[in-house]
Amino acid sequence: MKQRRVALVPTMGYLHEGHLSLARLAAASSDVVIVSIFVNPTQFNNPADLATYPRDLKRDLDLLEKEDFKIVFAPHEDELYAEGFQSWVNVARLTETLEGAHRPGHFQGVATVVSMLFNAVAPDAAVFGEKDFQQLRVIEQLVKDLKFPVEIIRAPIVREDDGLALSSRNVRLSPEERSSALLISKGLFEARALFQKGERNGSKLTAVVHSQLSQSPLIAPEYVELVREDDLTPIAQAAPGARILLAATVGKVRLIDNLSL
Ligand code: AMP
Repeated sequence: MKQRRVALVPTMGYLHEGHLSLARLAAASSDVVIVSIFVNPTQFNNPADLATYPRDLKRDLDLLEKEDFKIVFAPHEDELYAEGFQSWVNVARLTETLEGAHRPGHFQGVATVVSMLFNAVAPDAAVFGEKDFQQLRVIEQLVKDLKFPVEIIRAPIVREDDGLALSSRNVRLSPEERSSALLISKGLFEARALFQKGERNGSKLTAVVHSQLSQSPLIAPEYVELVREDDLTPIAQAAPGARILLAATVGKVRLIDNLSL
């Protein structure tokens, strides 16, 4: 009998079109799609962020049902983290910068929960979005190093018509913050346009992003970095395969975005 190919789509719920695009991509190359929904407490370095993270399982299940995705894995916290839990997965170099530097312990939580999900579901493939580009690279490294027999499929970033990258956290933005948040993608697209016109100087490319972010007093940038996509090291000169990654808080909401040049 032919084995059915199973693809896993790990999410933290409060699903949007970005998550659904991952599930559709999973369906395109697999027989069975399993969407996991789990707000993983160990990847939150900020308790307030965890407490305010939007959750609505009923809404998520309705959305998936409409799209014909019928298999959902939504474990309870103590099913994954039993009492006395003490085994952690660490990816070293790739997690030292960017999100890893600003969110201590974040990627340890991510690598650990993804390892548990892979063991629980045993998928042939798993889909991760480029929206969390460093996370995607960390998972690719994890799978390579620890030899998980799972193919990692990259999914492009889904944006609103006006450019804002979809995120579950966007529902927490006030209308005013929502329009300020637009400056994030605006800055990234402006940097890319400048690159396409021939600019290669890294500081100049990130400066146009900063200049957009500085248009709103509601935005506090955390980092804007030009890096090489493969190892995420910062570069002074942009070349093909370079990407700008950024994090900023808009009001109280922390957002990340990135764009390949
Ligand atoms: P999250 O629920 O935020 O942990 O995201 C679950 C998965 O969906 C991750 O692989 C994310 O990279 C991906 N994802 C989230 N937002 C987007 C988006 N706007 N476009 C593409 N993928 C996304």
